[in-house]
Amino acid sequence: VKLITAKRAGFCFGVKRAIDIAFDTAEKKKAGVYTLGPIIHNPQVVERLQTMGVRSVNSVRDLARKDPKAVIVRTHGVTENIMNSLSKNGHAVIDATCPFVKKAQHYAKLLKEEGYKIIILGDKEHPEVKGIMSYAGRGAVVVKDASEFPETKARVGVIVQTTQNVEKLKELLAVAVGHTKELKVYNTICNSTALRLKETEEMAQRADVMLIVGGKNSANTTQLARLCQSLGVATYHIETASEIKDAWFSRAATVGLTAGASTPDWIIKEVKKRIKDIGGRRTYGHPKGRYSKGRA
Ligand code: SF4
Repeated sequence: VKLITAKRAGFCFGVKRAIDIAFDTAEKKKAGVYTLGPIIHNPQVVERLQTMGVRSVNSVRDLARKDPKAVIVRTHGVTENIMNSLSKNGHAVIDATCPFVKKAQHYAKLLKEEGYKIIILGDKEHPEVKGIMSYAGRGAVVVKDASEFPETKARVGVIVQTTQNVEKLKELLAVAVGHTKELKVYNTICNSTALRLKETEEMAQRADVMLIVGGKNSANTTQLARLCQSLGVATYHIETASEIKDAWFSRAATVGLTAGASTPDWIIKEVKKRIKDIGGRRTYGHPKGRYSKGRA
């Protein structure tokens, strides 16, 4: 089996920064470190941090009973209200919000102050979007795609969830120009996501089987798996090497391997080792993974 590994597999800049901050804080404080929500969408990293005394809580209220030594804000950021409550309650806040997400929050605030009707392209349930929304103020609207662009005569300001793809933004803007005489756009899509998707797409066109490594709860990992699936290549979304089955590679000459932005290097290395071990001992099974579709 020829294995091709994506150059961009694994931690992006923002996640690496947040994880370094979390491990650093854990070492310094020893215990009593909390994150608001899991620091990243990767259960294995969260478990590792737990063994070092870093716990996750769901709300500011939960922190009141814990007497934390430090509270880490994760890469997605939090709402303005939450940030204010943390300071008001006297917590030592360590802000690991990705600087690109911070920038989107900043533009939201700016557009609000300038009186624009703000449209956010993204998933309204995603914590990053909830955070940006809080800075954009009451009149802001979240749309999942161009079809949801609202009827408006107002001056429109557009901001984008960092992990959206640029095609969706282009479609939205094509609709937006027909709706308003003044349009201001901040393209806050993170380059890391776009490049990772592009590389994955190219790889899926050459591979017989694609392995996508990362949390099942990670939106960007799932997006990679769905992309490969849509290209008709047999695709498996796994969290760890232990899920891999020999039969997946029975008829594969080339295997593509990539990983989401929240997947640590040590998990990618274990997956590579497992595929190499399988190398000589192929079996004749039929690949049927979570996202398997097309060639078997
Ligand atoms: S994907 Fe981009 S915006 Fe999101 S955490 Fe990574 S670097 Fe930051």
